[in-house]
Amino acid sequence: MELNELYSEVIKEHSISGHNKKHLPYATIVAPGRNPSCGDEIELELQMENGIIKDSAFTGVGCAISQASISIMIDLVRGRTAQDARRLAELFLKMALRQPLLPDELQELEDAAALQNISDMPARVKCATMPWHTLLKALDSI
Ligand SMILES: [Zn+2]
Repeated sequence: MELNELYSEVIKEHSISGHNKKHLPYATIVAPGRNPSCGDEIELELQMENGIIKDSAFTGVGCAISQASISIMIDLVRGRTAQDARRLAELFLKMALRQPLLPDELQELEDAAALQNISDMPARVKCATMPWHTLLKALDSI
């Protein structure tokens, strides 16, 4: 299997699995995210406990890229400190804007690295980055 195929599998899996698409019973932060150019509209929920993202989920509608990106992001940041999550979001945004990442940094992004080629599709970059901007906004509100 080509690397690109593997990546699109990851995106497809996350966009259809829906395992992060729900309301959290004990959300402490709810942050809206919008990408009007595509019609993506989500609400990111975080349950913060002692500076750690104890749980996260989302609701809303959007294209496969935005739904996959937010689901991958939630899997990545669950259980992390706000500081770690912020760093990962900044790495992801760097990658999406075609700024070179070190191999270690790319590895840190785990499944989110599957969205690396999004930078080749300018029209879809906002679909992929919107959830991460929403996360940074949410963490700013702590
Ligand atoms: Zn979109």
